[in-house]
Amino acid sequence: MITLDRMDLADCFTPEDIVNEIFRQCPTLMPPIPVCEIAKATGIKDIIERDLASIGGMLVADEEKNTGIILHHTSGPIGRKRFTIGHELGHFLLLHHGANQSCLASNIKEGSSASSNAKAETEANEFAQRLLMPDSFVASSINSSLPDIELLCDISITFGVSFEAMSNKCALSSNYPFALVYSHKGIVRYCWRNRNLFTPKIPLKRGDRLPDSSQAIRFSQNEDSISHIQSVDPSCWLEPGNDHISLEEQTFTQKDGYQVTLLRIKESTG
Ligand SMILES: [Zn+2]
Repeated sequence: MITLDRMDLADCFTPEDIVNEIFRQCPTLMPPIPVCEIAKATGIKDIIERDLASIGGMLVADEEKNTGIILHHTSGPIGRKRFTIGHELGHFLLLHHGANQSCLASNIKEGSSASSNAKAETEANEFAQRLLMPDSFVASSINSSLPDIELLCDISITFGVSFEAMSNKCALSSNYPFALVYSHKGIVRYCWRNRNLFTPKIPLKRGDRLPDSSQAIRFSQNEDSISHIQSVDPSCWLEPGNDHISLEEQTFTQKDGYQVTLLRIKESTG
């Protein structure tokens, strides 16, 4: 049973400070972080699933935000639902946010970036990311072995968050350089890398076709299939001038033609 002191939480004003205070009061929390129990311990009376059309989640609270309820959309995977609950809990605990929130699904951003047009939405996303994917736990998980798709799948299941959200967080927390290229039916959605670690640029932008010489473009479109890790000519993915790099590629085909390709720089042994 989780208990939380709202008085101490009320002294925190940023997503980072509130999450740190939750972990200070509950030092034994482990992934998957029990977001519903935490919400209940702070005054949320009920968490309800409902068909909300384009609305991803809602908070309905009293003016002082002593109590409230959270609604979230019925559709979507469990990781998405947990993130939405975390997002609405962020609105509840960030006292400068209004007591009633109605959040578009498109503003509840798990993976690519926390930012949104509205500052309150950005802060609520940041709160959910920090709560569900705590830095220290993520770093120790991703640095436990060489990063590959299987490891990223395992970590996302362990943390109860979406594959994309967790993979992007892992790319930033890893000590090993890897990048991710997200695509749909062979067309790039976006690329993601830790620029300090994976330094070569990937000259692909949204709307580009995956490189013809990549394994990714030829890989199976069967749902939930994962390719073997294979060496690939760096010029296939990286900008010119990176021929000295030893690059490896692995692709994961998800649902409805969505794919993610992991690019890993093989560290030289010499
Ligand atoms: Zn919101």
